[in-house]
Amino acid sequence: MNWSAGVQCVTKCDNRKPKSGELAYRKGHILTIIDTSMRKGYYRARHNATGEEGLINSNNVRERAALRVDPSLSLMPWFHGKISGPEAVSKLQPAEDGLFLVRESIRHPGDYVLCVSFSGEVVHYRVIYQDNKLTVDYKQYFYNLIDMIEFYSRNNDSIVTTLTKPKKKQGAKSAEVELCKTGWLLDITKLTLGENIGEGEFGAVYRGEYMGQKVAVKIIKCDVTAQAFLQETAVMTKLQHKNLVRLLGVILHKGLHIVTELMTKGNLGNFLRTRGRLVITCVQLLRFALDVCEGMEYLESKKLVHRDLATRNVLVSDDSVAKVSDFGLTKPDSKQPDKAMLPVKWTAPEALKKEKFSTKSDVWSFGVLLWEIFSYGRQPYPKMSLKEVKEKVEGGYRMEAPEECPADIYSLMRLCWEQEPRRRPGFPKLREKLEQEMVKRRPGPEAELQEGIRSGCRS
Ligand code: ADP
Repeated sequence: MNWSAGVQCVTKCDNRKPKSGELAYRKGHILTIIDTSMRKGYYRARHNATGEEGLINSNNVRERAALRVDPSLSLMPWFHGKISGPEAVSKLQPAEDGLFLVRESIRHPGDYVLCVSFSGEVVHYRVIYQDNKLTVDYKQYFYNLIDMIEFYSRNNDSIVTTLTKPKKKQGAKSAEVELCKTGWLLDITKLTLGENIGEGEFGAVYRGEYMGQKVAVKIIKCDVTAQAFLQETAVMTKLQHKNLVRLLGVILHKGLHIVTELMTKGNLGNFLRTRGRLVITCVQLLRFALDVCEGMEYLESKKLVHRDLATRNVLVSDDSVAKVSDFGLTKPDSKQPDKAMLPVKWTAPEALKKEKFSTKSDVWSFGVLLWEIFSYGRQPYPKMSLKEVKEKVEGGYRMEAPEECPADIYSLMRLCWEQEPRRRPGFPKLREKLEQEMVKRRPGPEAELQEGIRSGCRS
């Protein structure tokens, strides 16, 4: 395990009576490493539940367990789909007060039925879908079923009893239980939500604070989408790298809250466009390219393909480190995404035509991202329609170098855009080349003495 600041770990034993400067914890608690450059054998860490900081013995922690990417993992294990009333009754046996399930209504398509066991009987409540909201009593309205079940698990207004025990659909595994066991479930009461900082395709993103730590929270209200994002989240629990946006955990409340580290400078495309070449040096551009390349090298080592690499999906931290985000399409090599959703200008020809996604198709996208970086956030293939791009690229057309782009960097782009995937370099090779470019531009001792060095972009 490569321990570095930001990595989350689990304690292997208790430290109930900490010495001065040490952190107190019990076995199984989750800590975030803050500093590894302390005295040998010790790290500085923050306790994820109390927010306290202190020293820990490095032998007493292990890597945090990942959540298994498992399609049977469900945010709604109590949802049984289209089953009849009598079928629901037979599933809720033996009778137990508060045992419940939700089914789709057969008589009223689009509506649901909440079935609750009470005093040996099963009571069926029609859940009406009205104006994009759900209600049982026309008093209390909910965004989705998860929200409704959460409410009636705490209150029994309008229904016979609070919901205490979900009747799980056969084969369904409760995401809540698994998230809790692996320590990825966070506590809503410890979260303070701030202003809206972005609108994603599937949910809004807010600034927030979780036990003193600045965070970003993506809130997904639609239950079907939340379920799909659960898989993305499971992928994220496996990944810990300084150039990948770090997942802190999730909260199941009114859908799904995905809590990640806050990247205060927003997405890389906007960052470059709003600052431009007068502010950002060539060395800084190279630094961003190297950051993304290192993140991708790590993804490649985990046998994961991103499929949507572009500057809009790279975020910039407070200290200007670029990190790859948005694993929405990230899947192990074999699974295919929906063809209509593909970002044409960034997708390799073999992926567009034959849906052949691989690390080498990510390398193609990395070439387009390099072009975006060195053109300070311009839209690739300017003034060309998607249809034109598809046809011309297939016929061998490639974008010209961005203005003032170093020749060696443009050569790297062209290598990434080799028609034959095998001829494209891998991410380790690209990193090496970018590091060499960095060394070439590293200011010598003389230059270091000058203030405000601006390394020009001309090669
Ligand atoms: P999409 O659904 O379009 O892929 P996201 O929902 O991931 O996009 O994010 C939308 C926008 O919200 C981003 O472009 C970015 O500006 C902002 N954002 C997302 N995640 C974070 C974060 N961790 N820190 C700061 N801003 C973020």
